[in-house]
Amino acid sequence: FQKMIDRDRVTAESAVYAVMRRQAWSFERMHNTYIRERARDIWDLERHVLGHLIGESRAAIANLQHEAILIAHDLTPAQTMSLDISKIKAIATDLGGQTSHTAILAHARGIPAIVGLEDLTAIVSAGDTVIVDGNRGVVVTEPDAAQLMQYRMEAEKITAVEDTLGASAQLPAVTRDSIEISVMANIEFPGEIDLALAKGATGIGLYRTEFLYLSSESEPTEEDHLQAYLEAIRRVEGRPLTIRSLDLGADKFQPDSFTDHHEPNPFLGCRSIRLCLQNLPLFKTQLRALMRASAEGPINIMFPLISNVMELRQAKMILYDVMEDLEDQGVPYCRDIPIGTMIEVPSAALQANILAKEVDFFSIGTNDLIQYTVAADRSNERIANLYSAAHPAVLGLIKDVIRAAGRSKIDVSLCGEMAGEPEFAMILIGLGLRSLSVAPPAIPQVKKLIRSVSVDHCKRVARKVTSFDSDREVLNYIRVEVAKIIPDVLDGRPIGLG
Ligand code: PEP
Ligand code: MG
Repeated sequence: FQKMIDRDRVTAESAVYAVMRRQAWSFERMHNTYIRERARDIWDLERHVLGHLIGESRAAIANLQHEAILIAHDLTPAQTMSLDISKIKAIATDLGGQTSHTAILAHARGIPAIVGLEDLTAIVSAGDTVIVDGNRGVVVTEPDAAQLMQYRMEAEKITAVEDTLGASAQLPAVTRDSIEISVMANIEFPGEIDLALAKGATGIGLYRTEFLYLSSESEPTEEDHLQAYLEAIRRVEGRPLTIRSLDLGADKFQPDSFTDHHEPNPFLGCRSIRLCLQNLPLFKTQLRALMRASAEGPINIMFPLISNVMELRQAKMILYDVMEDLEDQGVPYCRDIPIGTMIEVPSAALQANILAKEVDFFSIGTNDLIQYTVAADRSNERIANLYSAAHPAVLGLIKDVIRAAGRSKIDVSLCGEMAGEPEFAMILIGLGLRSLSVAPPAIPQVKKLIRSVSVDHCKRVARKVTSFDSDREVLNYIRVEVAKIIPDVLDGRPIGLG
């Protein structure tokens, strides 16, 4: 390491990145799983050692004095959360997928981000001039004067469109044939609610409570949970607020104390409701806080990753146990709190008729539903082409879930990232959804689409797309259709989840 610095006269920081890049390269090419795992251990160790060696540079990222673009091999959701958005203008990473939680957080924080570029860190060096074109998903390195000029003009145009959309963000989301669509926001922290409301949200359709673990040094207590929920209740000022129980695991923070065994396949393993049902003290701590908060303002509660009816009944029974305890202790709570389930596993979608009899509402989580339907890890850039919201099987499942909810007369909403893309929003409304929950920055464009279409038109589009055999046909058709309706909003922006 020292030799590298001496020989190449590079800074400690770029030498470290060079070492890490080489490690990442060889690591990715190891085929034997056991060796790969051991290599990962060594790589982690090396990262820690180098982290100490470059302590100053890391601190420098946290306290940047100037604006910068962050190029990294990978970023965890925690690292993404800690970025200073007044300085970090964009992110680009080698690893990751469109709906990995790192990408979702960057989107929620309004940071342009491209993930899954595979070998970008091998190409770019510290100090290079770089353009991150989030619309087209490309990074331009060392642009010439003409490219810089073209991108500056494009950036101005995008800002102008955003300003126009922002000016009408508070208008109601009513279609041309007078059907009101509820456009709510997905949040990770109560502090995001103000931005969501400023962007025109009519409520919070998904509060990802597990992110409290990201901002805590130690395991959050019942009081920590309660304070977060009370803050959320205060900030929404009586608007709908749907709080999801902990969805820990997979690519999200996993408390070590709950995972003394290795998860060989984290997305198919002990995550989310499964982790909660195997760790009752953890689950009950959160549920007690939720129920105590329910006495202070209206909230809905929902369970993630339900894959069969017994799991849902078990989660509800634990909730009723918690209610009984509160009752015995004379602690106030709302007895008839609406209880819902996310539909994000194909088995749940296929059994929606049965699950609908057990809950007050559904929230379709397509980020996971897509990955489990097409068997493509949502955070793996190598198979990102297979991860498609437009896959006819995905659209078919969504359609069936909406129908099942209709038959049982329960509410249904959709909170996956696809709801924030106008093209898909049009299909979803056509399939019968009247409630969408999206990342706050996407709200104005979705509302604009809604105000520009009729439900009849959306239905025709949905009928057409459900007759196609492949996601390509769906995308080609819907891009053209929506570009006719809101060309200025979509200009130059391909669909992210295609
Ligand atoms: C989803 O899976 O669609 C969802 C909204 O939940 P998350 O992205 O937190 O997994
Ligand atoms: Mg999910």
